[in-house]
Amino acid sequence: MNELRIKISSLTEQELAEYIRSLGQPAFRAGQIFRWLHQRAASEFAAMTDIPKTLIAQLEEQCEIETLSVARKQVSKDGTVKYLFRLPDGNCIESVVMRYHYGNTICVSSEVGCRMGCRFCASTQNGLVRPLTAGEIARQVYTASEELGERISHIVMMGIGEPLDNYDNVLRFLQIISSPNGVNIGMRNISLSTCGLVPQINRLAQEKLGLTLSISLHAPNNRLRSSMMPVNDAFPLEQLMPACRAYQKTTGRRISFEYSMVKGVNDTSECAQQLAKLLRGMGAHVNLIPINPVDGSPYTASDAANVERFRERLGKLGINATVRRRLGTDISAACGQLRQEEARREQQQDENRR
Ligand code: SAH
Repeated sequence: MNELRIKISSLTEQELAEYIRSLGQPAFRAGQIFRWLHQRAASEFAAMTDIPKTLIAQLEEQCEIETLSVARKQVSKDGTVKYLFRLPDGNCIESVVMRYHYGNTICVSSEVGCRMGCRFCASTQNGLVRPLTAGEIARQVYTASEELGERISHIVMMGIGEPLDNYDNVLRFLQIISSPNGVNIGMRNISLSTCGLVPQINRLAQEKLGLTLSISLHAPNNRLRSSMMPVNDAFPLEQLMPACRAYQKTTGRRISFEYSMVKGVNDTSECAQQLAKLLRGMGAHVNLIPINPVDGSPYTASDAANVERFRERLGKLGINATVRRRLGTDISAACGQLRQEEARREQQQDENRR
């Protein structure tokens, strides 16, 4: 791969149009190429049969199409499919396809690794390797859909990485994926989850995209939240919560809050009370998820009865909460786990070779 080549599958329609114009080509060529890349998931220029040979040669010389290969695939008893994708530079990322009655949802990665350091999360244990480009994020959708032979109608940005720490690429991805000239997945069918980067939440509010924003809250007070999520030291609740309220006001869209339940840590009735107080008047929805224990993390999951008690307590205090159905637990579908397994396997192979 040549670093200097234009990553053509990461260009928005407008950027692609400008580039094609700079080659002295008529405007409609940009539309054709965009559709080849994003509607038909072409992986080489030679496949673009309605593009003149001379232009194809030029594109081959100047550009690259970002592709992925399937390194591993696991299918759960409940139909959830998890992919370990290998990028051309050898790095691995994960995507998970979940089957719901309303259609297939894909959970995509936004970075290779993550630098947020949440104590319960497998994706962040070795830090950030690099952000993904828009084309690499989009390609997860195309490759999974092609491999399954099924349409994917919904996207959640809840895989490896912190999407708002890769803001510009993620925004490009959102433009590309929602374009009627691409796979046309509307913003109403897209959720983006963040650990709470306040400046980017404020910026996102101004874009008024119509997607669903999820905040990984996980704790109702600073002491507890900082002990689970270092990001809380940079953006504590007294900054995060006003940013969330402002986001709702600006966009007219309700935020949903993720709350991963850790036995004896954040699952007490006092926590439920604090949480209800924190979210009062927001009309917010809370997703309760028993934490998925990962290697090297000190946390264990709250038991089902306690999760239910917590939910009921929130309900009585006027906060709407649901317990997230756990899909794919038999295939280590919590983000980052498969990539870690693969890294360990490769390391073992290297040692064996020595
Ligand atoms: N960085 C983003 C999106 C990726 S993580 C974010 O923090 O929101 C997607 C969700 O899974 C987040 O709510 C995250 O806190 C949660 N999560 C990560 N590891 C988990 C685990 N082991 N058990 C339960 N939830 C986990």
